[in-house]
Amino acid sequence: MIQHYPFELLPLPYLYDALEPNIDMETMYFHHTKHLRTYIEKLNQALAPYPEFHNWTLERLLLHLDELPEEIREEVRRNAGGVFNHQFYFDGMSPVPRKPEGQLKEAMLLDFGTYEAFQKTFFEMAMSVFGSGYLWLVCDNRGKLAIVPTVNQNTPISRDLYPLMNLDLWEHAYYLKHKNLRADYVWDWFPLVNWEEVGRRYQQALLTIALQNSV
Ligand code: MN
Repeated sequence: MIQHYPFELLPLPYLYDALEPNIDMETMYFHHTKHLRTYIEKLNQALAPYPEFHNWTLERLLLHLDELPEEIREEVRRNAGGVFNHQFYFDGMSPVPRKPEGQLKEAMLLDFGTYEAFQKTFFEMAMSVFGSGYLWLVCDNRGKLAIVPTVNQNTPISRDLYPLMNLDLWEHAYYLKHKNLRADYVWDWFPLVNWEEVGRRYQQALLTIALQNSV
């Protein structure tokens, strides 16, 4: 679905209690209706006086921050990032357990060796992210997978990197249930990854890359 100004709070693709017991209903409810809603409202406020950007998508805003007026650039970076990151995180989870398949699975085996090796590296990097941020699975413009952290509400969106999956490492994502135990949250989150959606994102990235290489 193509979104642009005024951005709206889209419903989750599952119920608030669907990820229990790994992520509790209260956390999902507040995360979606309070945290994400605030980013949406602030993004709309920042863009309201600038109709020339009202048909820009989140991705376009984030990829071309340098084209925005300086007085709203930081506000858009934070809040378009907050909207993108949260929608990406919520859509990247599912109550139905899945495993990587197809080209994504092949790339994971090639770039990490085994799924378990990928998981171990992802876990260790998640533990080493300091303060608030995200950990991402991305691919570069040759389709090679990599794990990269970002701080605050920054995104890895750029001309060379395609985001495939992200893990919200802000404390609000887990504090109600897991308190300060980030490790427990990360292990509870792994089985929720919607690998079907991540695989779709990878297919889309490969298609975009192929099209760019053909022109
Ligand atoms: Mn969050």
